[in-house]
Amino acid sequence: MTYQNYSLAQLRQADAAHHLHPFTDHKDLRAAGSRIVSRADGPFVYDMDGNEILDGMAGLWCVNVGYGRDELAEAAFEQMRELPYYNSFFRCSTPTPVLLAKKLAEIAPDGLNQVFYGSSGSEANDTALRLVRHYWALEGRPEKNRVISRDWAYHGSTIAGTSLGGMAAMHHQLHGAVPNIVHVMPPYAYELAEAGESDEQFGLRAARALEEAILEAGPDTVAAFIGEPVMGAGGVKIPPASYWPEIQRICRKYDVLLMLDEVITGYGRTGAWFAAQSMGIEPDTITTAKALTSGYQPLSALLVGDRIATALVEKGGEFFHGYTYSGHPVACAVALKNLEIIEREGLIERVRDETGPYLGQALREKLGDHDLVGEVRGFGLLAAVEIVKDKKTKTRFDPVGRAAGLVRDHAIANGLMMRAVNDTMILSPPLIWTKETIDMACERIAKALDLAR
Ligand code: PLP
Repeated sequence: MTYQNYSLAQLRQADAAHHLHPFTDHKDLRAAGSRIVSRADGPFVYDMDGNEILDGMAGLWCVNVGYGRDELAEAAFEQMRELPYYNSFFRCSTPTPVLLAKKLAEIAPDGLNQVFYGSSGSEANDTALRLVRHYWALEGRPEKNRVISRDWAYHGSTIAGTSLGGMAAMHHQLHGAVPNIVHVMPPYAYELAEAGESDEQFGLRAARALEEAILEAGPDTVAAFIGEPVMGAGGVKIPPASYWPEIQRICRKYDVLLMLDEVITGYGRTGAWFAAQSMGIEPDTITTAKALTSGYQPLSALLVGDRIATALVEKGGEFFHGYTYSGHPVACAVALKNLEIIEREGLIERVRDETGPYLGQALREKLGDHDLVGEVRGFGLLAAVEIVKDKKTKTRFDPVGRAAGLVRDHAIANGLMMRAVNDTMILSPPLIWTKETIDMACERIAKALDLAR
């Protein structure tokens, strides 16, 4: 590998000189220099400073089967040798996207039988937005084109993804969002529940914000609601059990399509193939990416429900949308092998029965009493730890994010990769973590919290 001909200092220097990073303050990066991760194995990544770091984020919520899987490399190699690329346009297809679509229809919730491919979650959400609007136009109702989303949502970084998302800082830099997208409150009880309000009551109130928005806009103008079953990048915000059934009821009542964004929650993270199955949600579309290939190849799949797909097929006419790499044969070969590994190793059952419940319990038992910890929450292998100055009053540190940033830095220095979203520390580890790995992570977080005091 050619990078080995370069010293770490040379790589850092070239990185600073030529590489613009995603979601990065480059002035700050130039001062600090990048951590250069050059290899990984199982649950660990290794940087060129010689550190072994337990990866509590599965890369970026994606490496569900862990690192170092030769089978995935072999699947890619064989497919590249056989057919590295051909498109799925112009009445063509290649075998692996076909077989993957068939497999996805088998594991998806009932009624989602069609797949539209892209290379990223952002692209898949662009597709989803265009598709739901196209659907209503096909039905002769083009004015039914508003989409309702939530504050704190993350749906990607393209213009459509950012417009659908509810990140204030991102909207600030958008300088012109996609029109007809409305945002309502998120189901974030820790900050938004009122005194004396039960979890169930709060979940219903948060869901009814959707109903109010539909009524305000007029049901005849609302195409769809989009939401992550558990909000990920916005801070692992887990809705009360009453939330999604009420959202479903409201969508049905006003004939509003339900779009789930499972880019993080898909492919086992919540103890089922999809969180829709864990939570009993019946969506019209599911956006997936990331763990579809465990991040070994860029690939997204929008799962499309029968109602939309039937209209698309029966009404006919070209849907003028697609990407050069829609259904990339190599990425699809890797996805097929990845799904096979998840199934063969029983990773979903492990999350559902063992590590999922244990992660929440261990974090609560080992960190819940710490004076910097306001709340611990978990759902499957997704977890959050809220950092506060005062547990009783839920007072945050000032400025927002600095304390959690400090905890994150101590965690990484102590061998655990975590992420901080404002004052929320996040974990989203590979599904290969065992109870012992979870214990190791808890010890490292406890140490980081003590150091940040
Ligand atoms: N949707 C959700 C819920 C995500 O978490 C992400 C990325 O983190 C995306 C969409 C965008 O995916 P990508 O970064 O692959 O474009």
